[in-house]
Amino acid sequence: VNRYFSNNTYFRTYVFKKFGLWNVCAFIILIMIIDGKKEAEVLREEIKKEIISIKNKTNKSPALTVILVGDFAPSQIYVKNKEKISKEVGINSNVIKYPKDVSEEEILKKIKELNNDKNVSGILVQLPLPDQISKEKVINLIDPLKDVDGFSPINVGNLASGYNAIVPCTPLGCLLLLKKVEKNLSGKHAVIIGRSNLNGKPLAQLLLKENCTVTITHSKTKNLKEECLKADILIAAVGVANLVKKDWVKSGSVIIDVGINKQGDKIVGDVNFEEVKDKVKAITPVPGGVGPMTIACLLKNTLECFKARLT
Ligand code: NAP
Repeated sequence: VNRYFSNNTYFRTYVFKKFGLWNVCAFIILIMIIDGKKEAEVLREEIKKEIISIKNKTNKSPALTVILVGDFAPSQIYVKNKEKISKEVGINSNVIKYPKDVSEEEILKKIKELNNDKNVSGILVQLPLPDQISKEKVINLIDPLKDVDGFSPINVGNLASGYNAIVPCTPLGCLLLLKKVEKNLSGKHAVIIGRSNLNGKPLAQLLLKENCTVTITHSKTKNLKEECLKADILIAAVGVANLVKKDWVKSGSVIIDVGINKQGDKIVGDVNFEEVKDKVKAITPVPGGVGPMTIACLLKNTLECFKARLT
């Protein structure tokens, strides 16, 4: 940093003279772009090491079975990614593919079979499902101890009760990233935009468990901007490109952007990153923030399910 800015005439002659070299460097360092890609790599490496160590002792490895129905392109890409990254850390990954007109009965029968299969540690049914298959029936049938997505009512209830639970991957990834910048979350005011079962609600439960004061907002919230301005921690899980602007965030707050939105040929978040980044203490970029942590947390959940069955 020193060499780069010392070579820059503007910094040398004006900014350094006015504010002092170290103050400028401190300011630059204080704005932290949370590198989800790097954190996910670290987490995957830890998971890999643990799997090797368990395999050396027991000769057993975790196994994840993914059910993929139909030919929805994004689902095919996600599943392929999950399969590749699972194998890299030593998880045996098996994808069972069905045509889009498969019956509900056949999918439910397969889930029962996987629930009873001792060699399967985790089951994931890739969403969305075609109309003839009830998402609710599928989620309810997966053995909660193999529910690597953390969607089953037992896991949702356990999380809400503050008990041990398998936590949905994206909210878990958000919490792990947050803890990298805020060691102690107790007493912080967290504002979440979005109340989905996938993101907003489990995030609220996780942050309550960390003793945050939590506000959940949604599309019917009045004065959304004013609510966001109260946040020490602002988490956007909305699906509206660049919804959160510079004048919506408190100086020095931490911003976690869950959103994935297509804007032309670019992917952007729910937070206007360029506007907001200089005002806050830390922020996740999109892409390269929460996304990579989501897959790493799926591996973490698979490992936890496997370990629970070992004893
Ligand atoms: P969702 O089920 O559509 O929920 C969106 C939530 O945002 C709802 O609670 C909705 O309110 C609220 N909302 C919508 N428009 C709003 C507005 N203008 N102001 C305030 N609140 C508004 O979405 P989701 O599944 O939670 O996903 C949210 C975003 O995260 C999407 O962009 C998705 O692609 C992304 N995502 C990312 C990852 C990752 O790994 N990074 C994983 C999953 C999802 P109502 O409840 O009132 O309708």
